[in-house]
Amino acid sequence: MTARAGYLSSRLQGYTTTIFAEMSALALATGSVNLGQGFPDTDGPEEIKRWAIDAIEAGHNQYPPGKGIAELRRAVAAHQRLFYGLDYDPEDEVLVTAGATEAIAASLLALCEVGDEVVMLEPYYDAYAACTAMAGATRRIVPLRGPGWRLDPADLAAAIGPRTRIVLVNSPHNPSGRVLGRDELDAIARVCVDNDLLAVTDEVYEHLVYEGEHIPLASLPGMRERTVSISSAGKTFSFTGWKVGWACAPAPLLAAVRTAKQFLTYVSSAPFQHAIAAALDAGDRHIAGTVANLRARRDQLCAGLAELGLEVVRPEGAYFVTTDVRPLGFDDGPEFCRMLPARCAVVAIPSVVFYDDRAAGRPLVRWTFCKRADVIDDALTRLQVLRR
Ligand code: PMP
Ligand code: GLN
Repeated sequence: MTARAGYLSSRLQGYTTTIFAEMSALALATGSVNLGQGFPDTDGPEEIKRWAIDAIEAGHNQYPPGKGIAELRRAVAAHQRLFYGLDYDPEDEVLVTAGATEAIAASLLALCEVGDEVVMLEPYYDAYAACTAMAGATRRIVPLRGPGWRLDPADLAAAIGPRTRIVLVNSPHNPSGRVLGRDELDAIARVCVDNDLLAVTDEVYEHLVYEGEHIPLASLPGMRERTVSISSAGKTFSFTGWKVGWACAPAPLLAAVRTAKQFLTYVSSAPFQHAIAAALDAGDRHIAGTVANLRARRDQLCAGLAELGLEVVRPEGAYFVTTDVRPLGFDDGPEFCRMLPARCAVVAIPSVVFYDDRAAGRPLVRWTFCKRADVIDDALTRLQVLRR
């Protein structure tokens, strides 16, 4: 056995670290402003924190039910009905998970046979590639094409083959900030229906939309019956560390996902489940302020990056901006991001980690704006030394 391989299975070679942890550690070690990993530097609403503390004090501290507490499953079902007109039975069509991450892993592990193919948009969130590998499946890539990060139906059609099992769709999209339009979602739905494919949707940024509208793929004709819709409370309520996520799907699909989930974490986050149930029940009350705030910070970061001489496509959703750093005299994102802490005390993410097409991803860098206005200002000031 080689030292490089160690005990790691061949499936996980290439996934020894996540770029997010790596870059956050670098930010800490160098005292840099962290515009890398996407977590807010301001906690969510006090009222929601209080509900979590109340739940701990009320004794909700042991294993919750395997499916998640009834109050949260009911609140998730009510949320799907209220925002999207989608009906799910809280008993056997809603599953609470340890964040969206576990729901994604459990879905791929449960629904893929070894050798199946999972179609995903590129750039792709890193967990999709790792979870697909863990499931013994293979990823097939559909590029979102610049400058507007559009999905071309011909690219999608070209990615579908006899081994395709799942189309994995992320919208609002990390890292591009794209919110897929109805025409693009229609194209995805048609491909799924025509080829009898399953869809898994990652909608963790469903409420962080600044332009346009988030349309769940499951709401399109023929899709509810074949879609596992995944979301989480982390982004919506700014409590990414609580790791309360969920999946909604027709009962047979959900039973498969639950089977995998129960041997991953079994259960998680008992008191936080109570707090998030209450937060969801509060409807838009805690969401609107967050969105308004993030929209302002998006505009602040976009304006600052544009002033540096970068071309900026304003994200419609999520909390990331992606730029090509060539106008600053760099053509290699990883090199740029390694240089940045020492030169400017700022950390960002080299987007090539989200790409199979290394050439396409190489000059791109992702910046997050889920930070306080003064922190973004500070980062933009520090970046001034890069002006040409
Ligand atoms: N999907 C996407 C697209 C993300 O950006 C993230 C980052 N948090 C996740 C899933 C993971 O969500 P969670 O923290 O709920 O596991
Ligand atoms: N979703 C966040 C990001 O994309 C954090 C991911 C993580 O830490 N795994 O930056």
